[in-house]
Amino acid sequence: MSLDDDLIASRKSGWRGARFVTLTAAIVFAGLVLLNALAIGYAVAGFALVTAAAFLARRAGEESGRLARPAAVSERAGDPLEAVVAGLPDPAIALDRNGRVLAFNERARSLAPALRRGELVSLALRMPELNEAIGRAYARGEEQRVEYSERVPRDRWFETIVMPIAVPTTFGGSESFLLMTFHDQTPLRRVEEMRADFVANASHELRTPLAALSGFIETLQGPARDDPKARERFLAIMQAQATRMARLIDDLLSLSRVELSAHVRPDTLIDIVPIIREVVDGLEPLARDRQVEIEVSLPSTPVIIAGDREELLRVFENLIENALKYGASGGRVAVSLVTVAGVDGASEVRVAVRDFGPGIAPEHLPRLTERFYRVDVGDSRSQGGTGLGLSLVKHIVNRHRGRLLIESVLKKGATFTACFPQPKPPASA
Ligand code: ADP
Repeated sequence: MSLDDDLIASRKSGWRGARFVTLTAAIVFAGLVLLNALAIGYAVAGFALVTAAAFLARRAGEESGRLARPAAVSERAGDPLEAVVAGLPDPAIALDRNGRVLAFNERARSLAPALRRGELVSLALRMPELNEAIGRAYARGEEQRVEYSERVPRDRWFETIVMPIAVPTTFGGSESFLLMTFHDQTPLRRVEEMRADFVANASHELRTPLAALSGFIETLQGPARDDPKARERFLAIMQAQATRMARLIDDLLSLSRVELSAHVRPDTLIDIVPIIREVVDGLEPLARDRQVEIEVSLPSTPVIIAGDREELLRVFENLIENALKYGASGGRVAVSLVTVAGVDGASEVRVAVRDFGPGIAPEHLPRLTERFYRVDVGDSRSQGGTGLGLSLVKHIVNRHRGRLLIESVLKKGATFTACFPQPKPPASA
C-alpha cells in the first residue's frame, strides 16, 4: 500500500469511528429520554458533548499521525506545501525539523536522484556542510547559506539557502519546517573566470611590447647613446612594438563596442560589394609585399544587406589580412561573393576568403574565434597579430544575425566564409 492509500484509509477509518460514537450516543440518549430516565435538555447537552469529543479526538489522532510520519504531509494529494515546492524555479526540498524530506521538486530530483520522501536528506545529499547548515537553521531560526561545488558529471557551483519557515496551525500554534533551495552559480563563475582570464591575457599582451620598449629606451640612453646605426634599428623596432600596442588597444575597444551593441541589429541597407573592393584595394601593398595575388570574384550589380559599414570593413580586413599573413605560402588568395537562396524565400550572402597556405589542424578550428587564441603564438606576434581578429569578426557577424564558417584542410589552405541574411524585398516590389 502506498503512503497515499495508507493515509486515505486511516482518514476514512477515523471518520467512521467518530460517526459510530455519535450514532451510539444518539441511541443511548434517545433511549434514556424515552424511558423518562433523563430530561430532554440534559440529553441534548450530553449528546452535543459526546459528539464534539468524538470529532476532536479524531482530529487529534490525525494531527499526531502527521507528526509521527511527516512524509505523509506532502504525500497528500493537493497538499499546498507539495504544490509550492513543485512550482519553485530552482531545485527545492522541504524538510522537517529532523532533516527528513517532506517534499521536493523535479529539479531537486535531478540534482540528487536518491531523494526519498520520509527519509533523511543526508542520505541523498552527502555533504557535511549542508547538514550542518540544516542544524543551524533550525536551532537559530535564521536562514543559512552554504556554497558547494560538484565535480561529477561536470563542474558546477551552487549556493544553497536553508530557510526556516513557520506555518500557523489550526489551533493557533505554529509548525516549522525548512526549505532548502539550490541556486546554480556556474554561469556566474564562468563569467568571472572569463573576465579574469581576459584581463590576464590583455595585460600580458600589452606587457610584452611595453617591456621591449623600455628595454630599448634603456639601451638608447646607455650603451647605444652614441651609436647612430643602432639607434636607427632600435627606433624601427620600437615603432613596430608601439604600433602593436596601439592595434591591441584598438581591437579591445572595437570588441567591447561590438559586444555592447550585440543585441542591436544594424538596420542600414548598404551595398556590400564596394566594401569588399575597398578592403582588397587597401591590402594590395601587403599582398605585394607577401608576393600573394588576390583573385576577386564579385558580382557587377549591388548586393544589399542590412549592415554597419565600419564593422563590415573590419570583418573583411581581418579575414583577407589573415589569409595574406598566414596563407602567404600558397601564393594566392581568392575572395568571392555568392547569394544563396534559402528554403523560405530568404536568401543569404556568402563572402568567402580562401587561401592555399598551410591550413589549420582540425583541433584548432572550434577555438579560433576565442579571444587571444592562436595556433602559433610566435607566428601571430611576429606578424603583428593580437589574437583578437577572429573573435571580433565573429561578434560582428553575429550582430548582423549572420554566421562565420571555417573550413580547412591541412597543407591545402583555409576558407573563412562570412554569411549574412539578405533582407526580403518589400511585398510591393
Ligand atoms: P591574430 O591577430 O593572431 O591574427 P586572429 O584572431 O585573427 O588573431 O587569428 C587567430 C589565429 O588563427 C591566428 O593566430 C592564426 O594562428 C590562425 N589563423 C587565422 N587565419 C588563418 C589562416 N588563413 N590560415 C592559417 N591560420 C590562420
